[in-house]
Amino acid sequence: MTDTSPGPSRTTLDFLGREHGHLINGRWRPSVSGETFDVQDPATGGCIARVAAGGAAEIDAAVRAARAALEGPWSRFTAAQRSAVLWKVADLVQRDHQLLCELEILDSGLPASLAGYICATVVPEFFRYYAGWPTKIEGATVPASPQGKLPGESLSFTLREPIGVVGAITPWNSPLPMAMLKIAPVLATGCTLVLKPAELAPLTAMRLAEICAEAGVPDGVINLVNGTGESAGAALAAHPGVDKIAFTGSTEVGRLIVRAAASNLKKVTLELGGKSPMMVLADADLEQVIPGAARACFFLQGQNCMAGTRLFVHERIHDKVVEGIASIARAMKIGPGMDPSSDFGPLISARQRERVAGYVEAGRREGAELVCGGRSPARPGYFFEPTVLIRTRNDMTPVSQEIFGPVLCVQSFGDGDLDSVARDANSTVYGLSGSVWTRDLGCAMQMVRRIDAGQVSVNIHAAIDPAMPFGGNKQSGWGREFGKEGLEPYLKTKGVSMTW
Ligand code: NAD
Repeated sequence: MTDTSPGPSRTTLDFLGREHGHLINGRWRPSVSGETFDVQDPATGGCIARVAAGGAAEIDAAVRAARAALEGPWSRFTAAQRSAVLWKVADLVQRDHQLLCELEILDSGLPASLAGYICATVVPEFFRYYAGWPTKIEGATVPASPQGKLPGESLSFTLREPIGVVGAITPWNSPLPMAMLKIAPVLATGCTLVLKPAELAPLTAMRLAEICAEAGVPDGVINLVNGTGESAGAALAAHPGVDKIAFTGSTEVGRLIVRAAASNLKKVTLELGGKSPMMVLADADLEQVIPGAARACFFLQGQNCMAGTRLFVHERIHDKVVEGIASIARAMKIGPGMDPSSDFGPLISARQRERVAGYVEAGRREGAELVCGGRSPARPGYFFEPTVLIRTRNDMTPVSQEIFGPVLCVQSFGDGDLDSVARDANSTVYGLSGSVWTRDLGCAMQMVRRIDAGQVSVNIHAAIDPAMPFGGNKQSGWGREFGKEGLEPYLKTKGVSMTW
């Protein structure tokens, strides 16, 4: 198949052709070892950029820069000045949205419409939301009586202070929002950062770090070290100069992060994997359910932590819903994100494609029936068709494990089965997201209470918004991002008592 998609702009080509190093104390530097790695376009498999591969030496230099910056001019920024910086970052992201959009497409395989929406709207809105917070981070006065002091003889209050040097490690799916989710709370609270983006898609994080500098963030506040997880990531998680690790990635690596962080008892937040259920009750509005469930599963080619990958649907509407979703899946135009007519891009790598194919095969061996998809189209790049499996069970491999690909596993239930559906929905080790589809809001609320997940939506899946906390229960993580709660892990509380 010939690719006729438009090529990247001159600005994007210039960016790709640069030497990509590590941002340490405001300067881009190569690795001490001189080692590099290639970044691929998943739509072609071709190399689009060469990036310095950092390790313990670069992490150590970046952590020292972040520690020094914590004491430097940044510590004298007023809350209003930090707000202004965040607002300026939003404006600059909007100015550069075309470049960011093309980099995001080439780096991670997003379709153009989605990448455009993320770069021109989602990311600026998120920075603007967090721009509102620095002036509202408040402690409290406390009615304490230290050592029996009477009222008027003492004053007790709390101070909210930045937690310090943050080490952030991010995944390759939607890499720009992943970097945004770490940078915005760091700037809002006055912390400093060493960011290690995913080696499979590091480009937009690098551009965002440059934008922060242009917006007036002092040198050393935002540092970025490229490299593999085993080398740069592990060194960051274990570094004694880091006060907090903010990790987004797989549950498996999350466990390694916790072990590494134990060395100096760093604070840790984890945004991990998911296997989110969607429950469709018999009275649901199918005009809403069918496109909603297809989007929930196939958005970002299913490489999305909150993807709705397990569909529990009432037996009376099962066939209609499955056929509706399968028709949407069959009609999706698979192709490179740079082609504006593509609906569905590639998976991130050949390895990921093999993984997804392996899960579909395992499901079929275990008795699931394939309704659509299940194959890689014959074309360059790492494409895999949107896939629907029916007659699945909780004990099947593709139902119990996170695939991180476009595979929907469907189960049906009958009248009076809501208790067992709730148990089934909670049957995996994950608890990130979930949705209920019904016109009966009383019933919806009962199911909302029963689903053990950090986020549950009704008649919509994964209702993400800058103001709404998001994060995982069970093995989907520790802590929350987004909203006011997303700031908490970046702050520490100091109790102060004064007498005179
Ligand atoms: P991953 O865990 O393989 O890698 C994530 C990051 O960790 C990368 O930067 C990687 O280099 C680094 N890393 C790998 N090994 C490491 C180690 N030993 N020490 C330190 N760092 C290490 O995950 P991935 O494949 O990049 O991303 C997919 C996973 O991310 C999925 O499980 C998905 O559900 C999860 N995810 C979760 C959320 C959320 O908000 N909960 C959001 C996006 C992705």
